[in-house]
Amino acid sequence: MQLCHAKQIQSDSLVLDSRLGSGQFGEVYKGRLGDKMVAVKLMKEGSSHEERVKFLQEAAIMRQFNNLNIVKMHGIVYENEKPMIVMELLENGDLQNYLLKLKRNNSASPYQLLNFCRQICLGMTYLSCKGFIHCDLAARNILLSKENICKIADFGMSCNLEDDEVYYYSKGKGGKIPIKWMAPEAVIKRKYSSASDVWSYGCVLYEIWSLGHKPFETYSNIYALEKVKDGYRLPPPPGSPRSIYKHMIQCWHPIPRERPDFHRLMLSMLQLESEQNDE
Ligand code: ATP
Repeated sequence: MQLCHAKQIQSDSLVLDSRLGSGQFGEVYKGRLGDKMVAVKLMKEGSSHEERVKFLQEAAIMRQFNNLNIVKMHGIVYENEKPMIVMELLENGDLQNYLLKLKRNNSASPYQLLNFCRQICLGMTYLSCKGFIHCDLAARNILLSKENICKIADFGMSCNLEDDEVYYYSKGKGGKIPIKWMAPEAVIKRKYSSASDVWSYGCVLYEIWSLGHKPFETYSNIYALEKVKDGYRLPPPPGSPRSIYKHMIQCWHPIPRERPDFHRLMLSMLQLESEQNDE
């Protein structure tokens, strides 16, 4: 496969340090590239050829982005058939754990929560304008810098729409499917679009305002899907503003084209922030 024209980094200029975490296919380490602290994603030992292709595809997708609210890829190490993705280091970890910490410390503020919602929306507006679908938008896949800038990460399930294409039909990408965050048409017909990302964004709003609770936490995947198909929607997280819940419900419209797009959501989030500042 074409090696994504990403900037090639020599392995001897990279020093790996402690492990930050691991996902289904990869492991992420803290590292140093020259005088810069970085995060380095490696493929797990014993990965299959298919997983290796997916790993490189993720790098190929990431290298196309240049936006404050999307994780920046510095380059790729490709020696001895062991690829590594070198990315900016996000010191404050993932948003889901950060929200749980805010809850534990009783230190969440509506300003900060709305700021997270707006930043994620900005990143998603950029992605959708470039014709990309994330397909796995969730608080666990948003990382935070030490200044609490939200960065959308984990492009392992993402894809680029062809010109004028609105939907992408997944042929089944292997790995776990995040059913509780997914729009019903994406689960049932494997029909992904920016509108299915908008559905997932509604779930991220829910995670943010419930301080780290996952959608349908106590339900099985099948039961959650049945309930959603029957028209059931998650209740407002306790204490969340009515205007935010209204946005969640709009994102969870059963008809994809009736959901707001990211650009419209971004304008609403900016409006809500300015109203908050006027209070
Ligand atoms: P999946 O299982 O879908 O591949 P994942 O998000 O669980 O995805 P990885 O993308 O491999 O797995 O990341 C594993 C963990 O490493 C993340 O949960 C996060 O805590 C940490 N991590 C990933 N990228 C960075 C980064 N750039 N800076 C800091 N920590 C990171």
